[in-house]
Parts: sequence; structure tokens; C-alpha cells
Amino acid sequence: MAITAESLAGLASLVSGPVLRRGDAALAAEVAAQNTAVVHDPEVVVGATSESDVAEAVTFAVANGLPVRVLATGHGSQVPVTDGVLITTRRLDSLTIDPETAVATIGAGNRWRSVIAAAAEHGLAPVAGSSDNVGSIGYTLGGGVGPVARTFGFSSDFVRGFRVVTAAGEVVTAGPDSNSDLFWALRGGKGGLGVVTSMDFALVRLSTLYGGALFFDEEHIPAVLRAWAAVTETAPEEATSSVTVVRFPPFDVIPEPFRGKTVISARFAYIGDPAVGERLFQPIRDAAPAFLGEVGEMPASAMAMIHSDPTDPGPVWDRGMLLTGIDGDFVERFLEIFGPGREVPVIAAELRHLGGATARDVPEGSAVGGRGAAYTFVMIGVPDPSLFDTVLPAVADGITAQLSPWVWEENNINFAGGLSVPGSFEASWPSAIFDRLAEVRRHYDPTHVFPYPDRKR
Ligand SMILES: Cc1cc2nc3c(=O)[nH]c(=O)nc-3n(C[C@H](O)[C@H](O)[C@H](O)COP(=O)(O)OP(=O)(O)OC[C@H]3O[C@@H](n4cnc5c(N)ncnc54)[C@H](O)[C@@H]3O)c2cc1C
Repeated sequence: MAITAESLAGLASLVSGPVLRRGDAALAAEVAAQNTAVVHDPEVVVGATSESDVAEAVTFAVANGLPVRVLATGHGSQVPVTDGVLITTRRLDSLTIDPETAVATIGAGNRWRSVIAAAAEHGLAPVAGSSDNVGSIGYTLGGGVGPVARTFGFSSDFVRGFRVVTAAGEVVTAGPDSNSDLFWALRGGKGGLGVVTSMDFALVRLSTLYGGALFFDEEHIPAVLRAWAAVTETAPEEATSSVTVVRFPPFDVIPEPFRGKTVISARFAYIGDPAVGERLFQPIRDAAPAFLGEVGEMPASAMAMIHSDPTDPGPVWDRGMLLTGIDGDFVERFLEIFGPGREVPVIAAELRHLGGATARDVPEGSAVGGRGAAYTFVMIGVPDPSLFDTVLPAVADGITAQLSPWVWEENNINFAGGLSVPGSFEASWPSAIFDRLAEVRRHYDPTHVFPYPDRKR
């Protein structure tokens, strides 16, 4: 159905935020994504300023036979949106903290950064992701595995309720006592369910922790990787850790002392007595001399420093998977691929330790995929978009095949990359959860107003 100027003017009269049409000069900036390799060009954009704006945008889309998608920060943008209505949520930035109940009510436009800062004023912290620049809601809808995941679990375990605009253009609450099937689905099921306008999110009482990261030169990759793998074999669930091999390009934008260098970084977080944390981390510290970094007592509000994920927008290609476990053979195979002197078009290869609280579902159940995984493994390709559809998928296929004895058939949607691998969408949840999610989607969105997933071809 063609969108008429009248219908668009009607929509604009009902919403307070900007309503843009393809070709409008302001559209590109409104839909710019953190992943700059993806350029969205939908037919209509609604910059929502309220729940009512979201509901009007959905109602307009349904009346005109158009699909609806959501853009918060664009950290998860993998495929350009080229049709329908795109609702941008960044103006939905309301945020309140109830220090009595330790629950934050987080509007859909918030990034973790603002939630972390507001919670810290009360000695509280959200169980957030590695990057405080990521959108709180987009991240949590996929489950969310962060730097203290083994102690606290998936971030979606902390949601107490959502407000959602459904395909019927109605605002509903989804919680343990209302639309409980939608609540179950939104805690890990990610897309195709509606537009979440806010969520109630339980915070944890946490002011400090023992944590940080150390950086080691390329020659020390084997020693540090082996030490880390050994530490994870016996680590209690109060300890969450990860390693990443990073090949920094020789570009001016990369600060010294990283420019042009290959390094391994070991990250660590311990919730509890710092002396115990220090003892647990000691074998990694002793593995080799670090050239930079610090692991010690730190404010919980600085947790994003543990991973120090990049915050500037740029082109990103990634592929992630879950591992059933790792052993000595895995470590040697990993070193053959990413060890000193290896040339591979992957700028970062990251392993995170899972288990502990991530293995335990919430009592009422939730739709998260990957609860049984022991580790995550993510590859980030060289930031050259000309390789994104050709070289990098083939390289990632080859590496995945080499690591196949340890790769789990099940994944988590936040780690599955562009879903370009056949079957990767279906594999992002256990099959029983996948089937139940499909049922919940059919119930709340019978006419596919919210197309999901968008896949890379
Ligand atoms: C640097 C970086 C670090 C990351 N770290 C972690 C990590 O530690 N752990 C982890 O689990 N994941 C991590 N991720 C993955 C991240 O959680 C996903 O990419 C997530 O989808 C980003 O959400 P967003 O809202 O910021 O991005 P967007 O691209 O804006 O949104 C992604 C998708 O989320 C959905 N969505 C967003 N907002 C809404 C809403 N209000 N209503 C309905 N649907 C919505 C839509 O399907 C949308 O397409 C990371 C990604 C990056 C790039």
C-alpha cells in the first residue's frame, strides 16, 4: 500500500517526535547505527518521545500494511532496514531508581551507562553487559551475559516487568502476573514480540568488587591463555573472567601503546573478599609480565573498564558461539589459529567463562538460550566492509570447523552475529524454547507486524 502525504501528515499530527520519510535530509542521522557498515533506509521513521508515539507509529504501520522495526543504539544492527516503519527509541530516556525496592524503571532509550551512574548513587548496580554504551533493553531482550555473569546470571533474570506496545497498537504490561507468556518470551526471546517502552529491572547491592584487566605482549599469549584456562577449571561462581587476543591495526586512531600491536588481555571480576579474588587471579598475574592494566579493588560503577569495549561507531562484523567446555587440546588449537605470529583477518578473538548462575533459570522460567554453555567464543573481523560478505564468513567457517569438538550446537541470540549461517536463528535457543517462542509470537503478532529475524544473506 502506498503511503500518502495525507496519511503521513495524520501520523505527524498524532506524535510529538519527528516523523521522517525516505529522502528527508534528517533521516540518515536519525537512523545512524553504532555499526556503520549498516545503513538503514526505511520508508518512514518515527522518533518516539513517548509510549503514545510508539503506539501511534504501530497503528499507522498496521493501517498501511507496513512492517515495524526498532532502533535503539544500532549495536545490534546487522542488516539494513529498507522497508516499513523504523521506530527510534533514544528519546525514551526516562529513568527512575527506587532505592527501597532496589528496582530501576528503565526507558527504552537508555544505555547501560546512565543506569549504572544513577544506581551507583544508592550503592546499587545493574547486572549489565561488558559495554556501558549498549542499549539496556536491546541487550536484555537477548538475555545478556556481562562481566559478573557467573555470580549473578543473565541480565534478563533481573527483569521484573516490561511495558510493551503490541501489534494491536495497545500498551500492555508483561510480568509474572500479567501476560506472563509474553514476559517469559521477552526474557531472552529478543524480537518479533512488540516494542518495549520500559522495563523494571532489579538492581544488586554492590559498590565495589575486585576486578580489572591486564594486557600482555604477543609472545605471552600461550602462557596467559594456559593460565587462564586452568583458573577457570576450578573458579568459584563469585569469579567471572575472560581473555581476548586483539590485533590492533597500525592506524593513528589507535592510541599507543596498542597501535599495530597484537596483545592478549585477561579480564577478571570477583564478588566477595578482595583477598580471595587476588589469590584466584594470581596464577594469571604470574603467567607473564603485563605491560599495562590493573586488577584490584574497583568501584562497581567502573565495571565497563574490565572489557574496555570500543565506544566510537565503526564498521563491525562478528560471529559468536557457545562452547561446551575447553581443555588442553582446545587451548593448543586456539593458539594454532590466534597465537603469536599467526595472520588471520580477525582483530579480536574472545573467550568468556560462563556457568555458575548463568546455568540456573529463574523459578518461573525464561526464554534465554545457552544456559548450559561453559564458555562463549566471539570473533570480530577486520573492520573492512569489503570483506564482510566474502572473506570473513569463509574464515569464520574455517575456524569454527577447527574448533568444532568444543562448539555447542546451541547459541544465544546476542552472540549469534548476523545469523548468516543456515540454522543459526533456530539454534539460538533450545528447540523447546524456540517452539514456544514461535507460539507466543503468533499469539501477540499474528500478522507479522514485527518481522523477525532480519538475516544477513
Ligand atoms: C561493543 C558491544 C558489546 C556487547 N557486549 C555484550 C555483552 O557483554 N553481553 C551480551 O549479551 N551482548 C553484548 N553485545 C550484544 C548486544 O547485547 C546486542 O547487539 C544488542 O542487541 C544491542 O542492543 P541495542 O539496543 O544497543 O542495539 P540496537 O541495534 O538498537 O537493537 C538491537 C535489536 O534489539 C531489539 N530492540 C532494541 N530495543 C528494543 C525495544 N525497545 N523493543 C523491542 N526490541 C528492541 C530489536 O530487535 C533491535 O533490532 C554487545 C554488542 C556490542 C556491539
